[in-house]
Amino acid sequence: MLNDIGMSPSEFDEAMHLPYAAEDFLTLAMLSVGIDPDDFQTLEFARDRFMSRTCIACPHRRRCHDHMEAFDFESHYRDFCPNADNFSKLLGKKCDA
Ligand code: SF4
Repeated sequence: MLNDIGMSPSEFDEAMHLPYAAEDFLTLAMLSVGIDPDDFQTLEFARDRFMSRTCIACPHRRRCHDHMEAFDFESHYRDFCPNADNFSKLLGKKCDA
């Protein structure tokens, strides 16, 4: 599983000490910005860009969590989210379809 997301066991161990380590922010973030996390193209893109890895090791998990709780992630994530460009590309793909 770690190979799939491009993380070494030690990187993963380190990430487990970050805030809200057990939360799947990638799925929540996708839903929040209007991306279907179960769409085949989304899953392929996320895997190719190591989006799960970026989320798991993200230094902004606390801020991310707070915006999720406030339901305003979609209007703030561009200021801090390391996956913001990937979300934009996914949203662009959706518009192309
Ligand atoms: S800020 Fe972005 S990269 Fe970081 S945990 Fe939240 S969704 Fe993932």
